[in-house]
Amino acid sequence: MLKLDGRALQVRTGTDQKRTVIKLSDDAAFPVSLRQKRAYLMASSEVPQGFAAYVSLPGIGDQAVFPENATIVRLSDEFKYLRSDDIIRIDFGEGSVRVLFRASSRHNFFLVTEQCNSYCLMCSQPPKAIDDGWIIEELRRVIPLIPSETQEIGFTGGEPFLFGDQFLDVLRLAKTMLPRTAIHILSNGRLFSSKQFARRYASIQHHDMMIGIPVYSDDATIHDYVVQASGAFDETITGILNLKELRQRVEIRVVLHRQTVDRLPQLAEFISRNLLFVDQVALMGLEITGFTRANLEQLWIDPKDYSTQLKKAASIFEGYRIPFLIYNHQLCTVDKSLWKYCQKSISDWKNEYLEICDSCSVKSECGGFFSSSKLYRHSDYIMPV
Ligand code: SF4
Repeated sequence: MLKLDGRALQVRTGTDQKRTVIKLSDDAAFPVSLRQKRAYLMASSEVPQGFAAYVSLPGIGDQAVFPENATIVRLSDEFKYLRSDDIIRIDFGEGSVRVLFRASSRHNFFLVTEQCNSYCLMCSQPPKAIDDGWIIEELRRVIPLIPSETQEIGFTGGEPFLFGDQFLDVLRLAKTMLPRTAIHILSNGRLFSSKQFARRYASIQHHDMMIGIPVYSDDATIHDYVVQASGAFDETITGILNLKELRQRVEIRVVLHRQTVDRLPQLAEFISRNLLFVDQVALMGLEITGFTRANLEQLWIDPKDYSTQLKKAASIFEGYRIPFLIYNHQLCTVDKSLWKYCQKSISDWKNEYLEICDSCSVKSECGGFFSSSKLYRHSDYIMPV
């Protein structure tokens, strides 16, 4: 698992800023006039002058002599994956660093807020009632730094749309600065039950922007129980209908666990009859993190034990020709007839395999495990193919 945030070994700064975001460059010949907008990622003891900050790893530039008032950040070996064009946040007060964007990754998701209007049993980012509006401000500074050739970025929460028009402005900025970059947003969809708000979102007119919205059951009481919010099912379904009426792209996400798998075929039928026009459905394995760890006994079911329901749901979607995908599953736990739907969906920084996977003939096609599954719980039926 890649370490994306943590304390720096040393942070020295000549500014009185609390935190900053900055893009890395390892190019010693970087144009002098632009160096104040970059942090130099040390490649040797040579210290090119004029950069806004200098970032060094153990063994590289230990003897370097830095300009007197320069910002210097020394990181541990765990950050040695950092490359040119990556974007980091330096928190001077905490002496910490968070990697916000990795140019080499296809899995760059930006957290918009930790606040949420739901309280899902398996939330991977447990909601906090805190004022984190500064993140929106930070996103406005990060987006112009993202390389224009980036294929896709994502936004997640909490519930990103709690920030209303401020977040819509961030999406507009992304459309302007990154016109060729697809956007994927994770949302519970409840705020789109307001047609007015759905219209304001649609007015962005992005060519490739999709919202992933979870629906956990065809039974409103089960959905509301899973998200721990009364009335959420009605709001979410109304939100999806409003978005689709406005021709916005919507993915329905179903996390598969003990509370949702029993009625999975009925949910597939419900989606097929009532929401036939959604763009795709993602059937997702459980990530053992956040609230899932606390509620594990209530949630865990071995993927092998819901393979019948998964096959039934798949055959319903096939029958109605609804595009669907299976995320976060290991191939050896899924019926072979469904392998063509399985995606390598786990973000690269938290994607691992077991030792026995080394002898598996389909390892390169298999999605593998979340790092947390390796630590806490995975299927009892993992078997090299
Ligand atoms: S043995 Fe490992 S690599 Fe092979 S299918 Fe199972 S989880 Fe995937």
